Amino acid sequence: MSHTEKSENLNEAISLAANVILSGGIGGIPTETVYGLAADALNPEAVRKIFAAKGRPFIDPLICHVCDMSMARSIAFFTRDAELLAQKFWPGPLTLILKRKPCVPDIVTAGLETVAVRMPSHKVTAELIRKCGRPLAAPSANPFGYVSPTCAEHVREQLGDKIDFVLDGGECSRGVESTIVSLSEDSRSAGKILRFGPIAPEELVAALGRALDCNPKVNEARPTAPGMLKTHYSPRSPLFLFDSPEQVEGLKSNIIFMRRPENPLSNHYWLSENGDLETAARSLFSLLRRLDKVSPGGFYCQRAPERGIGLAINDRLFRAGKPMQGSV
Ligand code: AMP
Ligand code: MG
Repeated sequence: MSHTEKSENLNEAISLAANVILSGGIGGIPTETVYGLAADALNPEAVRKIFAAKGRPFIDPLICHVCDMSMARSIAFFTRDAELLAQKFWPGPLTLILKRKPCVPDIVTAGLETVAVRMPSHKVTAELIRKCGRPLAAPSANPFGYVSPTCAEHVREQLGDKIDFVLDGGECSRGVESTIVSLSEDSRSAGKILRFGPIAPEELVAALGRALDCNPKVNEARPTAPGMLKTHYSPRSPLFLFDSPEQVEGLKSNIIFMRRPENPLSNHYWLSENGDLETAARSLFSLLRRLDKVSPGGFYCQRAPERGIGLAINDRLFRAGKPMQGSV
C-alpha cells in the first residue's frame, strides 16, 4: 500500500470513528501514553458504555481529552498554575485535575467537583477530537484492573467484541499512563501529584517554580485516582519484584530485567538494551502481557531506579506484583 493510500485510509477511519462517537458509540483510540476507550464526554449514556465494557466501578472518574485550549476551558476552570503547566507540557502526557464546569456530566467525574483534563499529542487522536468538536472521555482501554494496552492488538484482544471500533495508531511512544497533578485546591496550597507518569516531578516543580506534594499515596478507602489502588495494572499470573540480578540467579521462571543481561538465558527478557528508562517504560506493559500468557506459575520483574520515568515504572510494578521473598 502506498504512503498516500495509507493516510487516506487512516483519514477515512478517523472520520468513521468521529461519526460513531457523535452518535453515542465507543471505541479504542491511540495516545502517546496508552490506548484509551473513548466516548463523547458530554453524552452520559455514551460514557456509561465505557464503564460497562471495562467493568469499571462508577466511583472511578475519567480523563477528558481535548484538542485545544478553548475546548479545555469549556469544561474546566484554569488557575494560573494550570495555564503554566498546560503551556509547557501540552499536548503531552500530563493530566490536570481542575474545578469543573457545569456542562461536564456527573458520570464523568464520579460526582466530584473536579474534572481531569488532558491534551494528548498523538496526531490520530488529536484529529479525531477535532473532528468530533467535543471532549472525549477515555480511561485506558483494558478490563478494569488489568495491564493497560499499548497497541491496537491489545485492545482488540480484550475488548474487541464490546466496542464499536479500534483506531490503530501504532505503538504508544511513552507506554505508561499520564502523570496526574491536582491543582484544584486553593491556588496558595501546594498542589499534588496523584499518579507518577512520563512527566517527572522535578519537571513540574521547575515549571511551577514552587514545591509540589510528590507522594501519591495508596488509599484503598477512597482513592482519588484508582491508579492509586494497591492492586491495579495486574497480570493474572503472580508477578514477583526484585532489585538486583543476584536475587534471581538460577531461577527457572521467566525473568524481566531492566537492561540486557551480559549472558542472557532462554528464560531472560529485558525492557531495554542499556537500561534506558524511557525505552523500558515503552516496553513494560507489552512484555508483562506477553509473559502473563506463558508463565502460569508466575514470573519476575526487576524494579527501576527511582528517578524520572523510573518512578512511574515502579509505581505500576508495585500495583501489579509483590516483592519476592528476601527483598524489600
Ligand atoms: P485511566 O484513564 O484508566 O488511567 O484512569 C484515569 C485516572 O484519572 C484514574 O486514576 C482517575 O481516578 C483519575 N481521575 C480522573 N478524574 C479525577 C478527578 N476529578 N480527581 C482525581 N483523579 C481523577
Ligand atoms: Mg486505567
